[in-house]
Amino acid sequence: MDTAKSATRQWACHLPRGPGMASLRGMTAPLIDPFARPISYLRVSVTDRCDFRCVYCMAEQMTFLPKKELLTLEELDRMCSTFIAMGVEKLRITGGEPLVRKDILTFFRAMSRHLNSGKLKELTLTTNGSQLRKYAAALADCGVRRINVSLDTLDDRKFAAITRWGRLAQVLDGIAAAQEAGMRVKINAVALKGFNEDELFTLQHWCAQNGMDLTWIEVMPMGDLGNEDRLDQYWALSDLRARLAERYTLTELAERTGGPARYVRLEETGQKIGFITPLTHNFCESCNRVRLTCTGELYMCLGQEDMADLRAPLRASPDNALLQDAIRAAIARKPKGHDFDYSRQSVSGQVTRHMSHTGG
Ligand code: SAM
Ligand code: SF4
Repeated sequence: MDTAKSATRQWACHLPRGPGMASLRGMTAPLIDPFARPISYLRVSVTDRCDFRCVYCMAEQMTFLPKKELLTLEELDRMCSTFIAMGVEKLRITGGEPLVRKDILTFFRAMSRHLNSGKLKELTLTTNGSQLRKYAAALADCGVRRINVSLDTLDDRKFAAITRWGRLAQVLDGIAAAQEAGMRVKINAVALKGFNEDELFTLQHWCAQNGMDLTWIEVMPMGDLGNEDRLDQYWALSDLRARLAERYTLTELAERTGGPARYVRLEETGQKIGFITPLTHNFCESCNRVRLTCTGELYMCLGQEDMADLRAPLRASPDNALLQDAIRAAIARKPKGHDFDYSRQSVSGQVTRHMSHTGG
């Protein structure tokens, strides 16, 4: 904590004092939270809508936000550009399904100017893959080099069951389109007990054959989905990893992204396998990210309810000073970590919003 405060203080003392200077200070000082974590990664949900209804993410009958609640594409641009001016170097676009947002390419094209200027190091997205055939080439033109595609099963019937509305063939074709456009694809699979346990090796082989890394995600207690029981679905990644280790030599990789993923290399295939384990392990100490919803709420932690409304300061003035001050005030409230806990055979620390709201 002291390091962060003193870094900000040292920096701030080089600026002149006086009216308007608080926002000037806000504009260029690095974003460092109270636990000395620099905030360099922004995940942005551009819509709460989706063309799928994955059972662990959404209820079948969802009520979506009225359009006027959403940030416009111009507002999203202003919001992201302000974060970039404050030191954010990596932008991940998510949702809902980001590629169902109308005119989304306009936004990607606008963000590519920050890649060209060198301020932004990476522009990427997480998608269900359904619209990739349509957009992959254009996304690659905007400088998107790597994407994450969520895919929990390679079985048509199971895919239809877990996504309710999705078609596997369309997603596989989308993945092929992304690769044809030269993008690296990483597959994200939610580990679901009794659902894809039997596909552990099938999915891994398929990824290896197609030159893709694979990350497994523990199912998180997000949203009140009524008929779904998180504890029944929960498949601990420690178990999944032990099963992999029965067949492969796993080498722990030092690589850290500041996020919840830990990686191993399978020596026999050279493939990288990730584990996102917010529940069995705590990843919070190195957290470098914050999440912006499509309505302009900034969540400083995926697993906590606290958020800051950035839409009001954004809309209050065409100048970005108010927005910068609000961002800095929000980062000063970033908590040490989440409180998810399945350990006592009940889901505690649960947050009520859906993953599609915060952007997974
Ligand atoms: N629609 C896009 C997709 O599916 O990739 C982006 C948004 S989605 C909310 C982002 C990620 O969150 C997906 O990989 C999805 O599997 C994951 N996710 C959704 N609900 C989850 C939950 N309850 N627990 C763990 N992961 C979840
Ligand atoms: Fe849509 Fe992604 Fe949620 Fe599935 S996980 S319902 S694809 S937002």
